[in-house]
Amino acid sequence: MKIAVVGAGAMGSLFGGLLSISGEEVWLVDPWKEHMEAVLKKGLHIKRLREGDTLVAHPKAVTSPDPVGPCDLVLIFVKSYVTSSAMRNATPLIGVNTYCLTLQNGLGNIEAISEVVTAERILAGVTAHGATMVGPGEIVHAGQGKTIIGWPFGAEEKREEVSERAFKKLAEIAEAFLKAGIETDISENILVPIWEKLLVNVGINALTAILRIPNGALLAYDETKDLVRMAVEEAASVAKAKGVPVTGDIVSHVYDVAERTGQNKSSMLQDIIAGRKTEIGSINGMVVSEGKKLGVPVPVNEVLTDLIKALEKRGLEENC
Ligand code: NAD
Repeated sequence: MKIAVVGAGAMGSLFGGLLSISGEEVWLVDPWKEHMEAVLKKGLHIKRLREGDTLVAHPKAVTSPDPVGPCDLVLIFVKSYVTSSAMRNATPLIGVNTYCLTLQNGLGNIEAISEVVTAERILAGVTAHGATMVGPGEIVHAGQGKTIIGWPFGAEEKREEVSERAFKKLAEIAEAFLKAGIETDISENILVPIWEKLLVNVGINALTAILRIPNGALLAYDETKDLVRMAVEEAASVAKAKGVPVTGDIVSHVYDVAERTGQNKSSMLQDIIAGRKTEIGSINGMVVSEGKKLGVPVPVNEVLTDLIKALEKRGLEENC
């Protein structure tokens, strides 16, 4: 399969690197020149914490999509706030038979991709893998887990021929991922896992970033536990109002995740500490905008969103 990875940071490099080692034709596409040059010069080094070794992959690496040409699959791994502009720039990768798959966090990516790709060819999912950038050409594969993929329009639209084609492509992708060591399931209603992951991020990311605490510390105080519960319950009400059947004791699930990842610093906390922009707009911010559209009260998520936006502005000012 010819695969382009748009956004070859930590996660794009992980998936692109593993797929390239397993024999796929992989092109990393990322404007970060030093990283692309390092990959070409000395290979992409993937330090695997679980296995205790380092793999070296040799994908193609370019700063612009122009030399790549149309691909079978475009894997989107930019931060959600650049999905729209990255996709507009990625049009040379998209031919009549190209499918685009987003495994990014948050909501709004599918809509941003659909500005340049027809709904029929957009696939989406979630992954429990975790990775961090060490420097140009080097990543750490920190967390392992399942990847779930699906066709995000399947549950809403009964266009059987289209959905049959999408599910055939999903099976091909799952097979290629599995061959690369990426355990992958196909979901009939991918919006459910996407929302379930969103609810975890809604409960953990903003609060840990505002309070500058690791995930587990959210469980140490009644006040933070209450805030997690309120933010998650609001978001679950929005999911229900949108017709996404999120079931089970979702608040207990978020507490469990906070406990299991107790020592971790959330990605939003890492972004705030580093003075970088965060993905708040596609996480709590999206709960606010969707909630308002649907008449679901979302005051806790609104406060969390505004606090993170203020912290972002302060961080960017300090970096000037
Ligand atoms: P990252 O910041 O490491 O990588 C993003 C990359 O996108 C950067 O290398 C950047 O140079 C590149 N980029 C920026 N603008 C671009 C453009 N216009 N075209 C192409 N590339 C561009 O981010 P990440 O940690 O790999 O996260 C990517 C996505 O995956 C996010 O939505 C994140 O929430 C999600 N995710 C991350 C993890 C994780 O463990 N890191 C796990 C699951 C999901």
